[in-house]
Amino acid sequence: MTEIGTTVLGYPRIGPDRELKRSLERYWAGRIGEAELLGTGRALRTRAWRELKDAGLDSVPSNTFSHYDQVLDTTELFGALPERFTTLGLSPLDTYFAAARGVQDAPAMEMTKWFDTNYHYIVPELGPETTFSLTGTKPLDEYREARAIGVETRPVLVGPVTFLLLAKPAGTAPEGFRPLELLDNLLDGYVELLRRLHDEGVEWVQFDEPAFAADRSERELNALIRAYHRLAKETARPKILVAGYFGGLGRGLGVLARSPIDAIAVDLVSDESFVDAVAAEPALRDKEVLAGVVDGRNVWRTDPTRALSRAATLLGTAKSVSVSTSCSLLHVPYDVEREDGLHPRLKGWLAFARQKVDEVVLLGRALKEEEVDLSAARAAATDRATAADLADSGVRARLEALRPEDTVRSPYARRAAAQQAALNLPPLPSTTIGSFPQTTDVRKARAAHKAGSLDDAGYEAAMKAEIERVVRLQENLGLDVLVHGEPERNDMVQYFAERLAGFAATDFGWVQSYGSRCVRPPILYGDVSRPEPMTVEWARYAQGLTGKPVKGMLTGPVTILAWSFVRDDQPLGETARQVALAIRDEVHDLQEAGIRVIQVDEPALRELLPLRAAAHEAYFAWAVSSFRLATSGIDDATQIHTHMCYSEFGEVVKAIDALDADVTSIEAARSKMEVVTDLGAAGFGRGVGPGVYDIHSPRVPGVEEVSGLLRTAVGAVPAERIWVNPDCGLKTRGYAEVEPALRNLVAAAHTVRSEL
Ligand code: GLN
Ligand code: ZN
Repeated sequence: MTEIGTTVLGYPRIGPDRELKRSLERYWAGRIGEAELLGTGRALRTRAWRELKDAGLDSVPSNTFSHYDQVLDTTELFGALPERFTTLGLSPLDTYFAAARGVQDAPAMEMTKWFDTNYHYIVPELGPETTFSLTGTKPLDEYREARAIGVETRPVLVGPVTFLLLAKPAGTAPEGFRPLELLDNLLDGYVELLRRLHDEGVEWVQFDEPAFAADRSERELNALIRAYHRLAKETARPKILVAGYFGGLGRGLGVLARSPIDAIAVDLVSDESFVDAVAAEPALRDKEVLAGVVDGRNVWRTDPTRALSRAATLLGTAKSVSVSTSCSLLHVPYDVEREDGLHPRLKGWLAFARQKVDEVVLLGRALKEEEVDLSAARAAATDRATAADLADSGVRARLEALRPEDTVRSPYARRAAAQQAALNLPPLPSTTIGSFPQTTDVRKARAAHKAGSLDDAGYEAAMKAEIERVVRLQENLGLDVLVHGEPERNDMVQYFAERLAGFAATDFGWVQSYGSRCVRPPILYGDVSRPEPMTVEWARYAQGLTGKPVKGMLTGPVTILAWSFVRDDQPLGETARQVALAIRDEVHDLQEAGIRVIQVDEPALRELLPLRAAAHEAYFAWAVSSFRLATSGIDDATQIHTHMCYSEFGEVVKAIDALDADVTSIEAARSKMEVVTDLGAAGFGRGVGPGVYDIHSPRVPGVEEVSGLLRTAVGAVPAERIWVNPDCGLKTRGYAEVEPALRNLVAAAHTVRSEL
């Protein structure tokens, strides 16, 4: 085999029934030993390799399995785990897990989102003293393991430049240190790996460089040049494929085309205009190009006509063109065939990982002008494109009829005065972000109701009892604005998706989010509308229990889209407006039900930010306008809150301001209130609740600690606009921590209030 031919850039690994998740969690709980855990992994790999080979791919990837994360695997492979883990005296596997999850005296490495996906990787911590050397054998072991069952594979690795660009300076590194400075030393390790793979008989190796889908400096592009000249210069090496994905490669394309590597994989789905850039690149003439025309990140069946025309555009440019996925299939579920609960017509429009492999094989043959039958794929594409019932003319007409003034609230000062008159809150009002601990009883009741063993009346009674308990607790703690606690919600997106028209849920559509954690994103397939109120009865009930204001709790349009599989047949901004309209109806109904404070959560605002700065403005325009559409058209006296977490906010401060929410609560405890200083400096002029209690940790913060954080906040933003709240919802915590923590939070609010 000289060419790669048809392939996929990666495959799901958690197991069709989340076998790896279960094994990992049993292993961590001490219920199974290492041998059994390793056995689960081996069985999953065997199954995946056989499946991919039998499906007819020309090249099958390996080393795409991981016990936790592929970036952490790379850190371990090159001997760069931080010393706080390697000195614990644990087995190699437990050292690896300690780095991922932390142990008593060694806090976990940081975890963050993998580009603009909902997958999280473990951030390498590197300093000037870090030395890399090939200490692991994972890619070699997996290659041998596959060969032993008769499957020749192509080991896949995170590329050296992306690896360093994803790393952060270790805590001990001097100011200004950049991990990229370590490139030459890291390349020594990669060269050694290439040699070993070559000795083993490996024909092709894949290096992933998705970092070049984002804007990159001259220095970073130079690093890419250096890296691939150095690696390709090796004579004893497999052929090298470099994969760029999650967008076009920008200037990285020219760099890679001119370096002496053998093949390039390009993503022709995320950025349609990239096809032309690739077709116009003369230096590709001696390279194999893998045309990523099958979407690795979304669940729609590929339209063969469009896919083939894109791939065919490159035929004259490259030495050869083969078909591949746009990125690893890690981001989609395994197999749509199992989804018996889906409407058959919708099912016919979908392709999960297993189906996408077949698509790649089929399109690859078609590209070579082999006789293949594309009629079913063509029919599905036509059926979806012409499905009249996807369109809801009522929703479209309502959006059409909206005038600009319908999505603008009156000036903040006027609203603030009306809200103060209505709510009569003390300075530094205290509140929480929405969810209270989800106790076993709550989960059991939800599960029993879903399974049908608890009837509607029993379920309602159980939820109401829980809401009352949570309301009384908050009164007792002395919080100023209460919440109902969200006991009825499994998940902040799924709950709404289940109640909105245009969404479908899967039974087995699990996707790895991080480590053993999986999510099951809903599928947004048609125009969205709200058949009936979704949260109003619970909110009304909670408000009826108390004289204090109870906050209504909704998820915002951007976050609903970010955590769903969205339709790809219309711009995201248009879909967002439909979701926003449904939320707007809910906001309106909450107000009618006597709810005076309504929070619309947008924790994913930063996550959907496009990788390239040139696309930011357009993104902010639709993200902000959908939020405003959802939260306007109400009385001045109704107070809108929003909430954000999980990210660095630097780049989105202006957008947060533009949302025009009356109060924004935001994760801040870990960064010691940095974000309030940023907001203050940016002239943010509305209410802000910087989180003063880090809910990601079981630690209970003391009154003095919280007071200190509050004093910092009051120093950066005028006190009359500061709110006091935790970093995020409390649902993953236990009452044993939450109660004292909230008690301290309220006490700190009183202390600092008395100093004003
Ligand atoms: N209201 C949600 C909760 O409290 C917010 C969750 C989130 O921001 N991720 O659980
Ligand atoms: Zn949050």
